[in-house]
Amino acid sequence: MAEQQCLFCKIAAGQVKSAVIYNGPEVMAFLDIRPANPGHALVIPKVHVPYLPQLPDELNAKLLQLIKVITQAQIEALGAEGVNVIQNNGAIAGQAVPHIHFHVIPRFKDDKVVLTWDPQTMKEGQAEEIQKRLQEKAAEIASGEAPQEMHRHAEEQKPPPEEKPEEPKKKQKPIKVKPRVP
Ligand code: 5GP
Ligand code: ZN
Repeated sequence: MAEQQCLFCKIAAGQVKSAVIYNGPEVMAFLDIRPANPGHALVIPKVHVPYLPQLPDELNAKLLQLIKVITQAQIEALGAEGVNVIQNNGAIAGQAVPHIHFHVIPRFKDDKVVLTWDPQTMKEGQAEEIQKRLQEKAAEIASGEAPQEMHRHAEEQKPPPEEKPEEPKKKQKPIKVKPRVP
């Protein structure tokens, strides 16, 4: 994989400071600089991977294991009553930093975190048609028959020329999750 120097690559290399929670050889977790709630963590692979479809399979389990550990730590150390795990792919989906990252957001009663969308009404037969297309493609990809297609818009989403912390912004997260934590 080509060597990259995006903001999160620099954080992974220790060239940009961050509040590190866990630092492993291949994956790490650190606090988000503009947290949705105190304890909001970002979990990343150290290697530069822009989007989920490009993630090497051998990193899947390591990332999910660390997400699980951070979730449990937020519950036990911070008293979180629930946790959202969010991963945005592509600028249109709210991804500002083009290095794959998982938001792990501890939730507290009456916090101000909003994750919402307006549910759409499907036309007659639309869900079935979409289900068929996705079923066929997923089976093809899972069987390894299809070449691993890159994120279709990946090439259009070049990293900004100069990487720096974002300006504060209000954005709508695309995922609504009702966490249930044992
Ligand atoms: P995205 O919108 O790409 O899913 O999320 C990027 C996240 O990275 C944002 O929540 C933002 O606050 C966080 N972020 C941006 N710059 C920095 C930084 O320099 N350090 C840390 N720790 N987090 C950052
Ligand atoms: Zn990177």
